[in-house]
Amino acid sequence: MQYLPVFLDLRDRPVLLAGGGAVAARKLQALVRAGARVRVVAPAFDAAVVAQATPAGVELQRRGFEPADVDGAWLVIAATDDPRVNAAVAAAAGARGIWVNVVDDGTRSSCLMPAIIDRSPVIVAVGTGGASPTLARRVRAAIEAALPERLGALAALAGRWRERVRRALPDTAARRRFWEQLLDGEIGRRVAAGAAGDELMPAALAAASAAAATGAAGRGEVWLIGAGPGAPDLLTLRALRLLQRADVVLYDRLVPAAIVERARRDAERVFVGKESGRHRTTQEHINGLLLDYAGRGLKVARLKGGDPFVFGRGGEEIAVLARAGVPVIVVPGITAALGAAASTGMSLTQRHVAQAVCLVTVMGEAAEALDWRALAAPLQTVVFYMGVAELARISSRLCACGAPPQRPAMLVERATLPEQRVICGNLSDIAARGAAAGIAAPALLIVGDAARPALQAGIFAAVGLADCADRGRAGPA
Ligand code: SAH
Repeated sequence: MQYLPVFLDLRDRPVLLAGGGAVAARKLQALVRAGARVRVVAPAFDAAVVAQATPAGVELQRRGFEPADVDGAWLVIAATDDPRVNAAVAAAAGARGIWVNVVDDGTRSSCLMPAIIDRSPVIVAVGTGGASPTLARRVRAAIEAALPERLGALAALAGRWRERVRRALPDTAARRRFWEQLLDGEIGRRVAAGAAGDELMPAALAAASAAAATGAAGRGEVWLIGAGPGAPDLLTLRALRLLQRADVVLYDRLVPAAIVERARRDAERVFVGKESGRHRTTQEHINGLLLDYAGRGLKVARLKGGDPFVFGRGGEEIAVLARAGVPVIVVPGITAALGAAASTGMSLTQRHVAQAVCLVTVMGEAAEALDWRALAAPLQTVVFYMGVAELARISSRLCACGAPPQRPAMLVERATLPEQRVICGNLSDIAARGAAAGIAAPALLIVGDAARPALQAGIFAAVGLADCADRGRAGPA
């Protein structure tokens, strides 16, 4: 480790900033935010420096740098555009044993300025030892995205209550459990939504100390999380956050391994795909597992492909949990239809072409009772889930109910994944084309004029589907 990160308390401490340009203005902003008493020395000042200086009481000295300027400073920053001046500043500070940062010059610096994520009082600093500020900004952006917006408020709440919690829960383990539950539970959510949270603390603390006295386990919860259509980075930030907090992860066959791996290292992972091993995992079995884990006070992530409420039996699971009084959070996911639309460049609705979208499955007995006349009607896009084995039946029923055989139809297999395949055709030939190509689940059948290859040719090419674009041009319009 070439550098030791430290956090400086600069409130009311003297800091010297050499330079008056745009770079100096940026450094000045950070120093002022940290409450430093800043003096800026430069022959000329940009408007951005002057604008900040006046309200913050920053002293501006319009002249060249002199070594004695660093006397008494805690920290010195050289941000001029003249390497000789920067070197002189570094030498003067070095001679007096004062920390100095020379902007963009690690070799002359005794300290570096990190990229900062400020959710005060939580502050994250990212450094690359000066190797790549661009990379540091990337890392900062990634962390920024992973941190809740109201993290600072949550930390402030914890700070205000820390002492009272310590007195009420002298046992360290009980105290840690309390804070974990607070961050994960109702209070954490209320603070995230904008509340201060203090009003909920007395009751939570009383409950925790009562539980600590009787040795009761914490409350379990189930999170029904949509994992998206397949590409791991189509997971939402909320899904990722919860996944990383779960004690147990129950996941389906459609959830990619790369997403399951995002769970905590020590989390228990349970595969509950409907065709796991030799047994068929029944829905009753999954419901039982959910109740069992939650009953043991665990946080259970129930990961489902796509969205939990689109052909995901999320409705049944939430009903079982609600009956048992287990708290549930549902996190939406990108359903396969939306993933396929994006990755084929096909807009599901289009003015004058498709005024409605219908997500439908022909699986199960109820398929007989479907309103096929309505599905055959024009001006809509109909997306069939779990239908690859039924392509011929779907096409002929639609045609029997009045859909023209030339109505465009498209098959999208493993949408959003690198191995995605797209087959374009129409109701009269899509079953044969799908069979010839060996299209298999998971795949969607999309029917409607919005899937017309002639309409899509240029767009297919734009999203990188060269094959289909060619077929689109050759195929029936
Ligand atoms: N809850 C899921 C659907 C589960 S049903 C969702 O919202 O997407 C399973 C069916 O979804 C599959 O048979 C297939 O028709 C469709 N599906 C899921 N992922 C898919 C993908 N990446 N590409 C194409 N179809 C997919």
